[in-house]
Amino acid sequence: MTFEALGLTPALLHRLAELGYQTPTEIQKLAIPVVLSGKDLLASAQTGTGKTAGYALPVIQRLLSGPSVRANQTRALVLVPTRELAIQVSDNMKSYAGQNRLKVLAVYGGVKINPQMQALRSGCDILVATPGRLLDLHQCNAIGFKQLQILVLDEADRMLDLGFLPEVKRVLHLLPGKRQSLMLSATFSEDIRQLAATLLQAPEEVSV
Ligand code: AMP
Repeated sequence: MTFEALGLTPALLHRLAELGYQTPTEIQKLAIPVVLSGKDLLASAQTGTGKTAGYALPVIQRLLSGPSVRANQTRALVLVPTRELAIQVSDNMKSYAGQNRLKVLAVYGGVKINPQMQALRSGCDILVATPGRLLDLHQCNAIGFKQLQILVLDEADRMLDLGFLPEVKRVLHLLPGKRQSLMLSATFSEDIRQLAATLLQAPEEVSV
């Protein structure tokens, strides 16, 4: 199985070759075609399986077409539980997007909000965010979701363990109902299943 056979475009294949990724991992084989097809995804995958590229590559490909983003809007939102993961996921997204001129931003708590408000002024294609800071930014009109096409909830189990369920639910209420949603979790409790049921529509389930 090759990345090409999964349906990725030449621009992304070229970038993956530059990065030295030769073969897709199990989660990438299962997740990439689902995300490219536009369906919702529920994936069970641990860190280290290549799960980030499993959603990042097809999300980038889907965003390569479509209208450009307006001020203080985003086309894709990746919710993550921690600042460290926000930085890591946005670095990965930037790396995979390469020269494709997608704007990727990370916002998280524990640092000044003003530079993040400034950065959001021109809008972004992919916003990676922790839920509390995202709500603060929405509160001061720095971010809106009129153009949102794709939501990713990464490390959903850690999100719940850290007590972010109320914030995640508040974010969900702000998003357009018509969107593609992806949820990834290392473990599956009853709480995770319930959250998946409120967030996803007829998801394809994959597990590695
Ligand atoms: P993740 O599970 O998303 O944290 O990824 C684990 C590590 O594997 C990261 O350092 C990725 O850059 C790397 N990686 C992901 N997919 C591949 C692949 N298909 N080939 C080689 N390395 C990869």
